[in-house]
Amino acid sequence: MKLFNTLTNQIEEVSPQNPPEVKVYTCGPTVYDYMHIGNWFTFIRYDLLIRTLKASGFDPKWVINITDVGHLTSDADTGEDKLAKRAKSEGKTAWEIASFYTDYFKQGLVRLNFTQPWQMPKATDHIQGQINFILGLEKKGYTYRTSDGIYYDTSKFPNYASFAKLDLDEQQPGARIEPNPEKHNPSDFALWKFSPSNVQRDMEWDSPWGKGFPGWHIECSAMCLRYLGETLDIHSGGIDHIPIHHTNEIAQSEALTGKPLAKIWMHTNHILINGTKISKSLGNTVTLEDIEAKGYTPETLRMLVLESHYRSQSKFDWNSLAASEARLLRYRNFAARMFQAEPGGQEISPPDLLTVLQDDLNSPACLAVLENWLDKAEVLSLSKKSIVGTINSIDNLLGLKLSEVLDIPEELKQLIVQREQARNKQDWTKADQLRAELNQHGITVLDRPSGPLWQYLA
Ligand SMILES: [Zn+2]
Repeated sequence: MKLFNTLTNQIEEVSPQNPPEVKVYTCGPTVYDYMHIGNWFTFIRYDLLIRTLKASGFDPKWVINITDVGHLTSDADTGEDKLAKRAKSEGKTAWEIASFYTDYFKQGLVRLNFTQPWQMPKATDHIQGQINFILGLEKKGYTYRTSDGIYYDTSKFPNYASFAKLDLDEQQPGARIEPNPEKHNPSDFALWKFSPSNVQRDMEWDSPWGKGFPGWHIECSAMCLRYLGETLDIHSGGIDHIPIHHTNEIAQSEALTGKPLAKIWMHTNHILINGTKISKSLGNTVTLEDIEAKGYTPETLRMLVLESHYRSQSKFDWNSLAASEARLLRYRNFAARMFQAEPGGQEISPPDLLTVLQDDLNSPACLAVLENWLDKAEVLSLSKKSIVGTINSIDNLLGLKLSEVLDIPEELKQLIVQREQARNKQDWTKADQLRAELNQHGITVLDRPSGPLWQYLA
């Protein structure tokens, strides 16, 4: 299996350290609000990675962290804590906000038919691990203290700029970050922030440096180490994470362990909504709930995600979603044939979807292979075994829940038989009447040489 590695800028074979185990870490959500579909796009793409690894014979150990403290409104170290801000506006505690949106995220994973991650650790459950990590960095001379926290000195890590190909001379304080005059270098970042002396935070902990809370980046370094060890096989996240978050994770982890943090770095590209980047601040976000309120299923969103490659910009608009629904209907109607397979149907092998996905998760090419196969298979009379085998291989890889397509009730089957009898008697009025009745139940009938075939209507 091959993946594009952001670290080396080339497509590489996945060669885990202890096969068949593959250590995969995905930077998870900050649990302060409903997730928008941009977040879900990213996670669905990594679910596809896990499914493809499994089908390829690997045993992925998948960790997604839950950021429930320390992520400030700027991705750098300024602004308010996102959870504390939300808590204030809702009149709740940060703990209540974290608990609510963590549950919400986990329910979303189920609704969207995710592979269950191996671990979903919370930052607040790993404060001691983060403190120990910072102590290790302190011992090695990578930290310094300012009036508001303990900072990482990026000038001590010579490769700091290389991952993101940053031009540090260009990185002037104040461009997008409020200047902090106490920082030694503009790119330095907080490992531990002190609680303000005049405010009691909902979330704060004692530390060797005083009461406070961890910086955002340190949780990932600490939890990678705790669950997956010094070097991951695959580290993944959104493309936005490259210049700050992942650069800082590398600086922390590699300074402490002296080992590469990950062999392969994967990044998903942006999602555009009507041509603009999706963002809470622009107020153009769409949630899974918005999609469901318009009558679409979570599988339709999954289908839309699969239609673009994870390294290209994908787009969301309602017309595209409607097109994805039509595509999914075609697949579901193929699945419905498992209830209508005739004895003596032909045995054919399922489409080879795995090979295309093993080539850097090329999901659009995978759908093309599947549809070429359907073009041929739809006109054949197939055995039930062939139909079910294909449905299972699609479901295992793409998670579209085709095997959950329902059979139609016996009454409707009787209507189909009666319509067929009317047609045989050339009673077209009655046949049309029965067809209309079936349509009212969301079913249509194709008249094929081998007999009638029912399908779900759009
Ligand atoms: Zn992270």
